[in-house]
Amino acid sequence: MAMSFRAKMITGIVLIEGLFLLAILMSSLGILSQSRKQALVTRAASDARLFATAAAHALVSDDIGALQRIVRQVLRNRGVTYAAAWDGDGRLLAHAGRNTVGAHTYQAVASVAVDKTSYGKVEIEVADRGFGPILEQAGRRIIVIALGEMLLTGLIFWIFGRYLMRQIAAIEAGTARIAQGEFGFQLPVTGGDELARMVAGFNGMSTQLKALQEEAAREHQQVLAANEQLKERIHERTEALAVANRELEYLAMHDPLTGLPNRILLQDRLLQVIRAGRREAASFALMILDIDGFKDVNDSLGHQAGDHLLQEVATRLVSRLRQSDTAVRLGGDEFAILLPGVAHGAGAEKVARKLLRTLEEPVVLGDRRVSVTASCGVALFPAHGDEVGVLLRHADRAMYEAKRGRRGFLVFAPAMDEEGDNRLRLQVDLEQAIGHGDLVLHYQPTIDLVTGKISGAEALVRWQHPVLGMLPPAQFVPLAERTHLMGPLTFYVLRLAATQARAWAEQARPLPIAVNVSAVNLDDNEFVESVGRILQDAGVASELIELEVTETALMRDPERAQAAIQALSELGVRVAIDDFGTGYSSMTYLRKLAVAKIKIDKSFVMDMGVSRNDSVIVRSIVDLGHSLGLKVVGEGVETAEAMAVLASLGCDYAQGFHLARPMDAPAFDRWRQEHA
Ligand code: C2E
Ligand code: MG
Ligand code: MG
Repeated sequence: MAMSFRAKMITGIVLIEGLFLLAILMSSLGILSQSRKQALVTRAASDARLFATAAAHALVSDDIGALQRIVRQVLRNRGVTYAAAWDGDGRLLAHAGRNTVGAHTYQAVASVAVDKTSYGKVEIEVADRGFGPILEQAGRRIIVIALGEMLLTGLIFWIFGRYLMRQIAAIEAGTARIAQGEFGFQLPVTGGDELARMVAGFNGMSTQLKALQEEAAREHQQVLAANEQLKERIHERTEALAVANRELEYLAMHDPLTGLPNRILLQDRLLQVIRAGRREAASFALMILDIDGFKDVNDSLGHQAGDHLLQEVATRLVSRLRQSDTAVRLGGDEFAILLPGVAHGAGAEKVARKLLRTLEEPVVLGDRRVSVTASCGVALFPAHGDEVGVLLRHADRAMYEAKRGRRGFLVFAPAMDEEGDNRLRLQVDLEQAIGHGDLVLHYQPTIDLVTGKISGAEALVRWQHPVLGMLPPAQFVPLAERTHLMGPLTFYVLRLAATQARAWAEQARPLPIAVNVSAVNLDDNEFVESVGRILQDAGVASELIELEVTETALMRDPERAQAAIQALSELGVRVAIDDFGTGYSSMTYLRKLAVAKIKIDKSFVMDMGVSRNDSVIVRSIVDLGHSLGLKVVGEGVETAEAMAVLASLGCDYAQGFHLARPMDAPAFDRWRQEHA
């Protein structure tokens, strides 16, 4: 058990005090006993000397009887317990009493000498009778006194300690309360000593701690409130972020013009339906829809009208689709429609026809009413592919074929894909061919139906393909028209033709060469300028080059075509309308065009023999041309009869296999020599 501080203090004080007292008393007792002993030794010595003096006569005279009397006399003295006398030879002559030799006895010896002659010696023994026991008793009493004194001291200090410890105990209790988190209480302060001041200090500390505790609580409260606020703000921010995120996500996934989902979203959705389709063996159709002639709307009515048209198309598409279908704007004038559950081409066609019909209803753009046609291609999952990229490509291929054949709608067929692949490869090859000079010109003569003489040559391009052999223009000119290659191709042909025309002119047998120009070329604002530069570079007179533009190309953008033809004729280059009769141009329009010639489409000429209708058409074209002051050429003359009919109708020139097939330049030169 731990001893209390008070017990330790009292024990310490009592022990020290008792030991001190004991030491003081014991040492006084020692001094007392020492001085007593000294007195007895001195007395024994003086008694021995008196005994020797008294015994001297008896020894000298050798009177033993007297000696024994003296001995007994000595023994009668107080405290003497033994007396004895020896002669000079050491013989004991007389003695009395008992020789004890103890703690409380002291001996003294004195020699008996007369005139420096020794006659023997005497011995005396004194006992300290009575005083020793008194001292022992005193010792015991001292211990009792010391113990009593210690007890008393202990008692006094116990009482005093209680008084002193009162304050310390109070502090102890206070410390315990503080340890338990209780602050602000006050301990009673008694007196004004250090302990009282300590208690007062403790009270101050308790007050301070209370204040600190309250402040900490206030701060804690504030922190809690701030925390709450922060939480709220974080919540608000998170909400705002989520909203912004959703908006961004929406923007990333939608087309801003029409509000329809975009290509990214379509790909995502396709991926989903493909996965679901694989799991559940479900099918769907992917349709791609492309507006026909959208570029014309944009060019002639402006971009705003174009945008409006796209928005209108989007609205109409969505209005005719089911909720489960997804209409997407892929870009430009191209839309995609995802039709879940549509498993067959027939189902897709029904939807496509419905959509195409809705689009045909006129759209009001400014002061114009425009009717929109479009081309649709469909790929079916899983029949035509089970990957996003493949399905998109196949639907696109089908759309492309539908557009090319003016079919409105087509379901994908594997043959289209091969063609598509070939086309892509061809495009790359064609670009190289133009650069490498793999394109060659064949020339086909035209003859004057009145004189029968050669009147000109038409340059017809061919591609000497390293793998596919000699390719006719039908296999690569449309490709060039769809890509950026039409300009380079036409200028390349024009350069070759100009060079050839100049060569013939230099050989003193000049012959005009006709070069075919695509509608795409007329869209190029710098086209006329480029033609002029090429002729100049080749050093050829402009009347030796004619340009042929098909009637359909003219009608694509009549005003632009009219301006281009005007500029060309100002340059001295004559322009002919090719394949006339297929493009429905009006008389009024033709009148405005600065063309020199029209070439009747070969289909009419070739069929003149079988169809009366066609000969009527040919006749009316000839008359029309002449009435406008134009020369008329009959193309596709395959027989002598056809040529005769043309001549009889008053047609000016003829061109066709019956006269000559298109030939390379050396063959053409030979032919010309033979038919001079
Ligand atoms: P086109 O300008 O009407 O050329 C006449 C086409 O009719 C040529 O076909 C020619 O070979 C063919 N032809 C001539 N006489 C007869 C005949 O009696 N019977 C039949 N059935 N056909 C005959 P080709 O060379 O295959 O050219 C086809 C078309 O390709 C051309 O029609 C022209 O529009 C275009 N083309 C040819 N070369 C070029 C060129 O350098 N640039 C452009 N833009 N188009 C070209
Ligand atoms: Mg032609
Ligand atoms: Mg033609």
